[in-house]
Amino acid sequence: MALRLHNTLTGNNDEFISQTPNLVKLYTCGPTVYNYLHIGNWFGYIAWDILVRVLMANDYTVERVMNITDVGHLTGENEGDANNGEDKLAKGARREGKTAWEVAQFYGLDFVNKIDQLGLIKPQHIAKATDYIPQQLELVRKLKNKGFTYQIDDGIYFDTSKFPRYADFAHLDLMALRAGARVEMNPQKHNASDFALWKFSPNDEKRDMEWETPDDLLEDSSKNTEDRKLIMGFPGWHLECSAMAMTLLGETLDIHTGGIDHIPVHHTNEIAQSEAVTDKPLSNFWLHNNHLKVNGTKISKSLGNGYTIDDLTARGYTPNDYRMFVLQTHYRSEGNFTFENLTAAQNRLRNWRNIAAMRHQTHDTLRDDDDKSTDKGTISLYATSQALLEVLNNDLDTPAALVIVDEAFSRLTHAPLADIHQHAFIELLDTIDQTLGLQLLTTTPDVSDDIKRLILKRQQARSSQDWKTSDKLRQEIEKSGVTIRDTAHGPVWEYLG
Ligand code: AMP
Ligand code: ZN
Repeated sequence: MALRLHNTLTGNNDEFISQTPNLVKLYTCGPTVYNYLHIGNWFGYIAWDILVRVLMANDYTVERVMNITDVGHLTGENEGDANNGEDKLAKGARREGKTAWEVAQFYGLDFVNKIDQLGLIKPQHIAKATDYIPQQLELVRKLKNKGFTYQIDDGIYFDTSKFPRYADFAHLDLMALRAGARVEMNPQKHNASDFALWKFSPNDEKRDMEWETPDDLLEDSSKNTEDRKLIMGFPGWHLECSAMAMTLLGETLDIHTGGIDHIPVHHTNEIAQSEAVTDKPLSNFWLHNNHLKVNGTKISKSLGNGYTIDDLTARGYTPNDYRMFVLQTHYRSEGNFTFENLTAAQNRLRNWRNIAAMRHQTHDTLRDDDDKSTDKGTISLYATSQALLEVLNNDLDTPAALVIVDEAFSRLTHAPLADIHQHAFIELLDTIDQTLGLQLLTTTPDVSDDIKRLILKRQQARSSQDWKTSDKLRQEIEKSGVTIRDTAHGPVWEYLG
């Protein structure tokens, strides 16, 4: 069963083949930690968690790096001239009366905690840009030695006209870019698309985060000398990702992921500055998640619609409810968050958990595993696991995966418990958990033996039409957080609420 992924590089759903058999080198552009992440950011990170899970289900070991941008992402980035504006960390620091280091530490830690809360598989490397300054400077050095850089008053820039493929990745119209940028463009820049590799700290400002610019990176006239101030500086955002990706994973990645907003600037620049040095593709596959809107509107600070995971928790939704919400949209389609949609996801998950709890109520006495090829009910459950993997291998089609599970679960709801093959059922639940990360098995504990006895007693009372005792016993049972659904085949317990 081939795994196909939509590759921005080719525009096609290409069959995924890794450079080394069974090993995937994966880089995910991480967040800028100057604030809490909003649900739009997590929309992407949950999509990439599914990617990791699907790769693992295809027997790949995934070696993965996610960066934390804790310096150098400017507020003007992604809009027009990408080298203007304030460093987002400095902005966060001013807002909170803290240092940029404190802000980065606080929100970086919250990000890592939320990775756990959302049940995301943790990348082996969560790399902070500030821990890789020498590697970033080394990359600038290599680019300078190859003639790709020039220096202006506010920093060292990459000359995009020296990299002929610059416009290819995003199909950029450089003429239009030039025309559009004329007003806001720094007049010292050679081309509108040129970007800062290394920015100099302003002369009159002591930044929280700044590093000495090595002499050999500077033009002669501006060298640091004993009787003049050191030229301090900090890396450009794009440089960080290239340096960390290539340091930790090698010159060519198997897959690089990020949001669609990264295509025209951030990833275009990553490709240019990396490939200019190595003459090798930075990545064989590039995957991009679409954006999440809220009530059909772009997430923006001014609208106050950038809900956080904590905001959802405060309203009674779990991180897994949000994960289920995200799975309802394909990662390349635009998402639309409404509390109605989130409630629908919550109900679906509640239903799935109750079905998962049915495994405690089945007994594997009917059939043994050897029977699976001859048993209809069993075959359909094994086939469901297979069908689930097949649709996920089709460019991570999570909405189709949910439909497959819904259909299988609907069959289970109506089946006599005694007809459900426990082994096949648990295997299906395990496949769902491995690929979709919904933690069905770990969040659906069995009831105690006492409750089981009460359920049996209630059933006996019902058989002898002793409704009063049966009602009393139901109330007793419900105190433990479960209730009884009476079916044509007997009682099934479910979680309350
Ligand atoms: P940032 O912290 O701004 O670097 O963004 C972190 C990640 O979130 C990037 O990959 C962005 O593409 C992504 N992102 C930002 N806004 C949204 C959104 N509304 N929906 C989905 N992804 C987003
Ligand atoms: Zn990046």
